[in-house]
Amino acid sequence: MRACVLHAAKDLRIEERPDPAPGSTLAPHEVRLRVRAGGICGSDLHYYFHGRVGDFVIREPLIPGHEFAGEVAETGSAVTRVKPGQRVCVNPGRNCGTCPRCREGRPNLCENVFFMGSASKFPHMQGGFAEYTTVAEAQCFPVADDLPFAEMAFAEPLSVALHAAHRAGNLMGQKVLITGAGPIGLLILLAARRGGAAHIAITDMMDQPLAAARAIGADEAFNVGPGTEPLLEAAKAIGGYDVVFEASGAIPALNAGLLAVRAGGIVVQVGSLPGGETPVLANRVMAREIDLRGAFRFGDVFGDAVACLEKRLIDIRPLLTGRYTIETANEAFEAARDRSRSLKVVIEF
Ligand SMILES: [Zn+2]
Ligand SMILES: [Zn+2]
Repeated sequence: MRACVLHAAKDLRIEERPDPAPGSTLAPHEVRLRVRAGGICGSDLHYYFHGRVGDFVIREPLIPGHEFAGEVAETGSAVTRVKPGQRVCVNPGRNCGTCPRCREGRPNLCENVFFMGSASKFPHMQGGFAEYTTVAEAQCFPVADDLPFAEMAFAEPLSVALHAAHRAGNLMGQKVLITGAGPIGLLILLAARRGGAAHIAITDMMDQPLAAARAIGADEAFNVGPGTEPLLEAAKAIGGYDVVFEASGAIPALNAGLLAVRAGGIVVQVGSLPGGETPVLANRVMAREIDLRGAFRFGDVFGDAVACLEKRLIDIRPLLTGRYTIETANEAFEAARDRSRSLKVVIEF
């Protein structure tokens, strides 16, 4: 089988790996997956272009990819929920189920989490950008036969968006601001609209993703490259946004959100900010009783995300801007980085 293997920054090789031997190596609850599509995430881009994401550095060859879907090729002896030939979205995370955070129903905060395609632990946790991979039965979510694999690959980033929305609470009738019109910001836009948000504004530093945001339903779009004044004026005119989702990972965007949210409003930090200390308008958090909340990966919403995709309750097709093959994986990464032409890029295997 072939796999995309990242050896260092800008050194992604398409390598031939031994085919999994049928029947010989699967544990009872494991599933061998024929991967069919994988989406390139911002963290994959960091590994690809810089060899690291924040403090996680590539120290051994890493198969990237945590947004993927495929067909069940083979099942372990104790697997009952899926069978060979079934099409599944794969939750790339496995939590332990027994630590205090797992037991209080916050599996994304598990102390012993295993997350595919990540160099956060050593040996690294290998990802899904290969023709075959092995996952646990519990990671597999069956999907109807007519949903294309490239759409199924959105289950993971959509889960991130749904989780962020849940962290904000009920969005019905709310005025919402999203800072950052990358795939996560755009998926939050779709989720917030579905959740009943009455007014949705979005910011970015580039016009193309903002145009995409308008096309999928943003009421206002601000290019904050030249400055945040028009945004802050718009915020003032409506008495401040009820909820802000910070999805850019930029400190100025977080601070703009703290200025644009109403007193007593909610700011959800979804984007990964630069490492180290962060200069934040913290007195504003205090004096206006702003709820500043984190949203990390996702909890138990993966099945909801799959259902949304399956019924197209949330239609992600406008976000799917590039489809590549394993042979052209390097081009896929280059395209994914170019925000002037790409929203979400998918590799098909
Ligand atoms: Zn991702
Ligand atoms: Zn746990």
